[in-house]
Amino acid sequence: MGLTRRGFFKTLGVAGATLAIGSEAGAGRLGSTTIEYYGILHDGTRCKGCRGCEFDCAEAHGLPEPVKKVPDIRKTDETRNTVINTYKTSRGEVFIKRQCMHCNEPACVAACLTKAMHKTVVGPVTWDGDKCMGCRYCMVSCPWDMPKFEYHSANPRIQKCDMCYSRLKTGEQPACAFNCPNDALLYGKRRDLIREAHRRIFEKPGLYHDHVYGEHEAGGTGWLYVAPVPFEQLGMNTTLQQASYPALTKGFLYSVPTIFVLVPALLLGIQQATKNDANNGEEEEDE
Ligand code: SF4
Ligand code: SF4
Ligand code: SF4
Repeated sequence: MGLTRRGFFKTLGVAGATLAIGSEAGAGRLGSTTIEYYGILHDGTRCKGCRGCEFDCAEAHGLPEPVKKVPDIRKTDETRNTVINTYKTSRGEVFIKRQCMHCNEPACVAACLTKAMHKTVVGPVTWDGDKCMGCRYCMVSCPWDMPKFEYHSANPRIQKCDMCYSRLKTGEQPACAFNCPNDALLYGKRRDLIREAHRRIFEKPGLYHDHVYGEHEAGGTGWLYVAPVPFEQLGMNTTLQQASYPALTKGFLYSVPTIFVLVPALLLGIQQATKNDANNGEEEEDE
C-alpha cells in the first residue's frame, strides 16, 4: 500500500532567513546586492478570475494550453502549475489563485533525500530532474499538496510552480505577475510584500479581511494572500501550524527503515542508467 499524505502527517504527529549571500538569481533586476526572499502577493479584492495567469504560466513552461471552460474548483496537476478557483462567499464571488507556496522552510526540500528539491537563496523552490529518483516523498510531505508527478510519462518529472525561476535569473518577473491585467499579482521582496499587504488592510478595513495568509502559515511562504473574506471561505487550509514542517519531516525520515532509503537510491541508479541508455539510443538514432 502506498504512503498517503494523510498517513504521512499522521506518522509525523502533526503538532506543531537570514539568507546566504549568493548571485544565484538576476541581482540586476532584483535590484539589491543583499539577497533575500522574493515572493508574490495575490490580492483577492482585485482578481477578476480572468485566468490569464493560467495561460501565461502554461506558455512560460511549455505546458498544454488551459481549456476555456472549467469547474469552479480545481487542483493543480502535472499539466498545470496554477489554477484560479471561484468561491461563492459571504461577499459574493471571490477568485483565488493556487500554486506551490514556496515555503520559507519547505517540507518538500527537507523530505528530498537527493536534494532534487531545492530552496534557492532568493526564495523559489526548484526541482532538478537530474537528481530526482522519483520517490515522491516531496509529494506526501507538502502541506499544500503541490508537487505533482507525471505518471503517464516515460521520463516523469515533478511539476509545480517554480516562481518562474529561469525568468528571474534573466531579470524578468514571473510570467503571471508580469502579465496580470488587473494588478492582482505583485512580485517583490517578501518583506516589502508583507508591508504592502498590511498597508492595504489598514487603509481599507471594510474591504479586506484582517489577515495576510502566508505570513506565518507553515513558517511563512513566498506566496502571500489578502482577500475580502476569511480564508476558510476560499478553500485555504487555515489549520496549519505556524512553525515550519521540515523538523517534523526529518523526524519522519529518521524513522524510515533503511530499506526504504536504500530502495530509492537503487531506483535513482536504475533511473540514471535508463536515462543514459535512452540518451545513447538517441545519439545512435541521430548518427
Ligand atoms: S508548498 Fe509544498 S511544494 Fe511548495 S515549497 Fe512548500 S512544501 Fe514545497
Ligand atoms: S520525487 Fe523524491 S527525489 Fe524527486 S524531488 Fe521529490 S523527494 Fe526529491
Ligand atoms: S510564478 Fe511562474 S510558475 Fe508560478 S504560477 Fe506564476 S507563471 Fe506559473
